[in-house]
Amino acid sequence: MSQPQVSERPKPFVFPEYCKGCGRCIDVCSKHCISLGTEINPQTGLIPIVLDLEACNGCGLCITACPEPFGLQPQVQPGEDYELQDPAHLFGARETAAPHAEPIPDELVDLPATAPLVIKGNYAAAIGAMLAGCRHVYGYPITPSTEGAELMAKLLPKLDGVFLQAVSEVATVNIMYGCGGAGLPCLTFTSSPGFSLMLEGISYMIGSEVPGVFLDIMRGGPGLGNIAPEQSDIKLACRGLGHGNTHAIVLAPSTPQEMLDLTMLAFQLSFKYRNPVVILGDGYLGQMTGRVTLPRKMVRPGRPQWAVWGDHDHRRNLICSIYLSEQELEDHNKYLLGKYAEMTANEQRADLFHCADAETLIVATTTPAQMAKGAVQQLRQKGVKVGLFRPVTLWPFPIQHLLPLLKRVERIVVVEASNGQLEDELRLALSQAGVFKPPLIEHVRHYGGVLPGQSEIVNRILAAEEVVS
Ligand code: SF4
Ligand code: SF4
Repeated sequence: MSQPQVSERPKPFVFPEYCKGCGRCIDVCSKHCISLGTEINPQTGLIPIVLDLEACNGCGLCITACPEPFGLQPQVQPGEDYELQDPAHLFGARETAAPHAEPIPDELVDLPATAPLVIKGNYAAAIGAMLAGCRHVYGYPITPSTEGAELMAKLLPKLDGVFLQAVSEVATVNIMYGCGGAGLPCLTFTSSPGFSLMLEGISYMIGSEVPGVFLDIMRGGPGLGNIAPEQSDIKLACRGLGHGNTHAIVLAPSTPQEMLDLTMLAFQLSFKYRNPVVILGDGYLGQMTGRVTLPRKMVRPGRPQWAVWGDHDHRRNLICSIYLSEQELEDHNKYLLGKYAEMTANEQRADLFHCADAETLIVATTTPAQMAKGAVQQLRQKGVKVGLFRPVTLWPFPIQHLLPLLKRVERIVVVEASNGQLEDELRLALSQAGVFKPPLIEHVRHYGGVLPGQSEIVNRILAAEEVVS
């Protein structure tokens, strides 16, 4: 009697271009047949695994462990059709520039009219994010931003969303990289020391064109500093978003209402340009309670064509910031610079208060702008021609709104809670606009949590007026 044929269990083989080098297969193989390779795959920029199957018993655990549908496959058995297992045969040559998927556009959904809320700035931003369609929030708690994350942790699970407290800010930004790469609106609440830790990841997001919103409630520095308000991160947000030629739109709300409105805008801009957006609040603004009117529309987000969504139609997409060829990386940089130029041309925003006839202009943003506004009102009652120029975008600096005012302006007073970080942006914008003889620029500055006071600003400007007269 002949022995029944024992068919050998199939051993694995790997499609290197579909292996992301996650190492899960390495962990499960008790026969140590799998190791991480040493060569970067030029098609993906990733390092695929290498198989040495001499000891392989065909248990199949590695194939089960592989999260990539076509990473590890069973080897073809005699009589089986290899072509059917070949992703190149199933999907055609792998391309990243021409995805199959049709984009699903965002939808606007009507909201009923409601009475205004009286809430903290951090809560207003959290509500703005939810109304913008954000259901994914990651973060590491840090005062004075924590209330926003707390509210999200309570509400998002009830809205089929996710709040995850990451192990660190470095983990947070990299989770956002993955979430934004899937085309989902995501956000973090953080504060200055945490924002510093996220900068490398923000550079990766910019390089890979991944959207995401960073809400930085700035506090006193350097180092751990304190938890009081300081405009300590203007230079980081405008000039220091990690390595490389990086930029992101930087929005600067000044009231709880703007915390909501600008957070909604941030998501729109982040997806419009496929780039992170930074919102700079400060410790007072996050904690400040104010009247907030909800919009009459909210966003149901769609799905962009480029999303790495994990289904057949999106499989050709790739989120990656590595360009090993020097020329390709220069071309990618040129493309990004073009995008920054578009942002600079289209997204400058400023709020002008009594600027039309102003001879003295105060430039201020976030909470110090509130003190400056009070000072303008007080000085106007004394007949002083003073106005407040409040940049709502710190990058791009709204120079196109400032230039027309300079015909009348004799003096600019920069009021800020940092040692010249806002003034540097102003001076750079003037110089880049070809204004080499600007009006006299003075300043009222504090730091460490001390804010410029209204009477201090008034006295400074009155003293200057007396000197002139
Ligand atoms: S089939 Fe089993 S033994 Fe073979 S490589 Fe995979 S995990 Fe290791
Ligand atoms: S589990 Fe799949 S994707 Fe991860 S390293 Fe192994 S083959 Fe590659």
